[in-house]
Amino acid sequence: MPHDLPKAYDPAIIEDHWAEYWVREKLFAQPTPSADAAGKGEPYTILLPPPNVTGRLHMGHMLNQTEMDILVRWRRMSGRRAMWLPGTDHAGIATQMMVERQLISESTSRQKLGREAFVKRVWEWKRHYGGAILDQMKRLGASVDWQREYFTMDEKLSVAVREAFVRLHEQNLIYRGAYIVNWCPRCQTAISDLEVFHEEQSGHLWEIRYPVQNKDGKDSGKFLSVATTRPETMLGDVAVAIHPEDERYFSLHGKKLRLPLMNREIPIILDDWVSRDFGTGAVKVTPAHDPNDFALAERHHLPSINIMDDTGHINAEGGAYAGIDRYAARKKVVADLEKQGLLAGIKDHVNNVGHCDRCKTVVEPRLSTQWFIKIQPLADKAKEAVRQGHIKFTPEMYEKTYFEWMENIHDWCISRQLWWGHRIPAWHCAECRKITVARIDPTTCAHCGSKKITQETDVLDTWFSSGLLPVSVFGWPNFSPVDLPQMTGAPGPSHLGTGEGIKDHADFDAFYPTSLLVTGFDILFFWVARMIMFGCWFAGDVPMPDGSKRTLADSVPFREVYIHALVRDANREKMSKTKGNVLDPIEIVKQYGTDAVRFTLASMASPGTDIAFNIARTEGYRAFANKIWNAARFLFMNVDRAAEVGIVVDPAALGGMPSASPDEPLEARWIVAELHATAAKVNHSLENYRYDDAANTIYQFFWGSFCDWYLEIVKLRLDFSETADKAKTKAALTTLVQVFEAALRLLSPFMPFITEELWHAIYDGNPPVKSIALTKYPVRLTTELSDYLSQAIVFMEELQNVITAIRALRKKCGVPDKEFVRTYICGGKRISFEASRRFILLVRFNQDILKSLARISELIIDEPVKGNVHSEFNFEVAIEYERQIDVAAERGRMTKEIAKYEKNLISAELQLSNESFMAKAPVHIVEGLKKQAAETQLLLSKARIALTTLPPE
Ligand SMILES: [Zn+2]
Ligand SMILES: [Zn+2]
Repeated sequence: MPHDLPKAYDPAIIEDHWAEYWVREKLFAQPTPSADAAGKGEPYTILLPPPNVTGRLHMGHMLNQTEMDILVRWRRMSGRRAMWLPGTDHAGIATQMMVERQLISESTSRQKLGREAFVKRVWEWKRHYGGAILDQMKRLGASVDWQREYFTMDEKLSVAVREAFVRLHEQNLIYRGAYIVNWCPRCQTAISDLEVFHEEQSGHLWEIRYPVQNKDGKDSGKFLSVATTRPETMLGDVAVAIHPEDERYFSLHGKKLRLPLMNREIPIILDDWVSRDFGTGAVKVTPAHDPNDFALAERHHLPSINIMDDTGHINAEGGAYAGIDRYAARKKVVADLEKQGLLAGIKDHVNNVGHCDRCKTVVEPRLSTQWFIKIQPLADKAKEAVRQGHIKFTPEMYEKTYFEWMENIHDWCISRQLWWGHRIPAWHCAECRKITVARIDPTTCAHCGSKKITQETDVLDTWFSSGLLPVSVFGWPNFSPVDLPQMTGAPGPSHLGTGEGIKDHADFDAFYPTSLLVTGFDILFFWVARMIMFGCWFAGDVPMPDGSKRTLADSVPFREVYIHALVRDANREKMSKTKGNVLDPIEIVKQYGTDAVRFTLASMASPGTDIAFNIARTEGYRAFANKIWNAARFLFMNVDRAAEVGIVVDPAALGGMPSASPDEPLEARWIVAELHATAAKVNHSLENYRYDDAANTIYQFFWGSFCDWYLEIVKLRLDFSETADKAKTKAALTTLVQVFEAALRLLSPFMPFITEELWHAIYDGNPPVKSIALTKYPVRLTTELSDYLSQAIVFMEELQNVITAIRALRKKCGVPDKEFVRTYICGGKRISFEASRRFILLVRFNQDILKSLARISELIIDEPVKGNVHSEFNFEVAIEYERQIDVAAERGRMTKEIAKYEKNLISAELQLSNESFMAKAPVHIVEGLKKQAAETQLLLSKARIALTTLPPE
């Protein structure tokens, strides 16, 4: 049978081919289970953290997806009904910004287009450019269920969003209120605390003198000084606060001040919250522009004056400053104060300034009316779920982080002033001013019946919909497998909870709770905590498959959370655009193949340990893939030669765990035993998220045991001559193919492409199933590991030691690699007679292995050793070798060698003493150079000594 494998391993060709095949054949689709699904394996579900629709794949995704794909492929091969669910997030702010930028380049704007046309435009953008990241995932072979791909703005998911909102509103858990939010004047929306990053900036602290007034309203000539970093906000001051026990200001109790520039009378108020030691001990109170001041004003029943509009310009409340941008206003306010002699001083000051995470604009704390979720009952339930152990965090420390955050959680501001997103299903009445919240778009006010109602313009925070994903992707709240009603005008899911209309829970029953969430710590609160809150809150109302009430244990959105680490550069530095050390996974994949990149990440991934991504390692794993490729070519060459003499391996013998009988040669028993041990270790490592241990164990087995030892030995058994014992040859060939096939399955979750290619080649285009991904994952069968198998590992190790010792001895004596020499082996001097006899027996039995692997012309066993001797505790070996050398030629060769070493050493030293090179070169390069220089130095001195020991000509 021909196995036409190209000579050279070229990942680009095979990977494109299989990636396309997997998608086309819908190999990883996991349809809604039917009633008879029992016995088809316990479900194993992972939800892909939905990348932003604007996203591009980066190293973090690559790691995250590699980890998920390894687990899903492994579980699938281990008999679980595995499903990995992909989708994208509509990413409110990011997407709106992207399209707005496009509009600017066309000299138009969102405002000019109007809301409806703009939203249409975003959908168009999404169709053309959105979800590029999922295409990248397809190319990288992620074994996700593409049939289930969703988008968070899909009809089905939008119904869930609306139901969740309406239900929370009915439960009095959603309210509308004035609150200080982080306002981004660029994005013109409120953003959450989590979407603000703080950066230290050098600015100023201005000290302003507020004139104290007499009872008649005239300036007394006295002043009270306050300090501020944002002087323009004084336009909205409503008071100045001092500590009631601050002796400096006793005389000012009950007095009033004149607010400079605005010439408004404001009170001096007393509050314990004021710190006497900070600044002047007097604090201006600007409730509409500072959260602390807002709280202060509430306590003292003071009004709030918002002086800024949505774009960061001063509004009409700012009097003469109306229409001026906030920073221009700052300059003007300071200048005007100075003119009036009211500026007491300016100090340099380092501020911790909040910026919009999306557009980097400085955010403005600003009072606005927003929608909130009263978080407490949801948070309590979510805390309880983790406390009771229904969700397990890996690494464990993130559980503590979770609790810390959940203890300090505030009400969640869910409204955003964007146009792209789920519009809040609330209508304002122009007549009674009340609000109607409804599942079906209303035409009249629910309170007064007026037709003068208009829908809320705000949309929901993007995390509102992504927080619902674990329930919504499985059909909540409708559970109807048919097309869902339109969001507007169609019957809503108000029947929910009555039992009727719940036609099909099958998906939810099978796949909820999901098994595992793999994600980064940066969205632990944004997303993970919110999914837990929403999952526990809403899933509890969905009955269990048997109709019983769902407990908290089964309401959680996932059973486990695995927080993956960061991918850093080779010097352990965080990747950043400013540092210019960002690695593009797609570029590296192009160079080395997906398999090698995946293996690099896996070989370093373990809970809580950041990965220092080093291309040199990827190069190494590319060589590993190449090694496997060549092993396959060797194997196929022999399979084909065997076929010519009528020896054929039965395909039915493949696909399981190979075994070996006691009368098979040592290497057969040994490699089978090693395979079982390796499988056991790999399964155990994957259970514990030790991707690194699993990958390294497979690597050792494949490269070390299989390629370096087993293949070298098995060559001796593949005898296709006339006189050969065909049964023995067939047995050896069968074990070879069996072990190789099983090893491919073992490696498949880590290197899915090359294993798929070679596995198909083994079956010569006629495989038992469509993909290696649908075969069984190797496990150790304990019944198979009888004594003679475990013994084989001990025996083989002893032989390997002998071979390694002889090889070292040959090298020491300068025996050319190709030469076969007479070799002596006997038991060690200090071991017992018994042990020595056992050892000699082992050597006698396996003479052919020794002779071939250690290049022995004649093997003399158990006689006093002669010649160059090497002793170990267990044994002694010796070789008879006299070198016949041409002294003149040897001298010439050695002199040349010395010259070469000297030259290399000089160039290395030059580089190491070059300061500008040393300043720029990465640590690993410098380390490598130093190591190389030291090695060259060693070789040089050895060569010099060798030259002096040459006999005279
Ligand atoms: Zn912004
Ligand atoms: Zn009304």
